[in-house]
Amino acid sequence: MNTADRLAAIRARVDATARSAGRDPRSVELLAVSKLQPPAQIREAYAAGHRAFGENYAQELRDKAVALADLPGLMWHAIGALQRNKIQYVARVATAFHALDGLELAEALSARRVDHPLGPLDVYLEVNVADAPTKHGIPASLAPAMVDRVRTLPGLRVRGLMCMPPLDLESPEQSRPWFAALRALAARCDLSGLSMGTTGDFEVAIEEGATIVRVGRSIFGERPAPA
Ligand SMILES: *Cc1c(COP(=O)(O)O)cnc(C)c1O
Repeated sequence: MNTADRLAAIRARVDATARSAGRDPRSVELLAVSKLQPPAQIREAYAAGHRAFGENYAQELRDKAVALADLPGLMWHAIGALQRNKIQYVARVATAFHALDGLELAEALSARRVDHPLGPLDVYLEVNVADAPTKHGIPASLAPAMVDRVRTLPGLRVRGLMCMPPLDLESPEQSRPWFAALRALAARCDLSGLSMGTTGDFEVAIEEGATIVRVGRSIFGERPAPA
């Protein structure tokens, strides 16, 4: 199968899972995670009609945005932890940021998106749902206050919450408590967006209410190792 076929197969699984969960398939967005994949792969998915792509690394995002600047309507979602000195790479080109984990970062991003041609940056707060010491994200207990603060920033639009269960889980079912907890927390924060689910567990995530799933390997194949 080529990239276009794999993309269509994943979209079909997203739609089928949504329907069997009693949801409208249009309520689940598919983000194609293209990190570490060459721009040619993105062109192929774009030619097949796909528009939303996820990148983890700020410099790689910057470089790919230049390499693919000829593709109208392409939307970049930054999904990885962001260091302060690379904020401008994301602020310049992204339509969404899924790994917001601090107020200072939020303020710096907001400042760069006021009066920006792309408008406010859509953000998802990354939550460390189980308060695992090794994970990125803010503790769940701090999320509601942080959401309230970020909502006041003019350059950002708070869309929802994001989580990334541990990578060493043995089955997709093991992600379910993480996803359910994120959904409950989002409800408490009066947020409807849930960025959750990857190749390994996106179907469980949709059953638990995901509004955007971040799928890489099953669309683009295995990734080359980071440089
Ligand atoms: C790499 C990555 C994904 C995609 O993972 P796959 O296993 O390739 O589907 C999703 N979200 C984040 C934050 C990632 O870093």
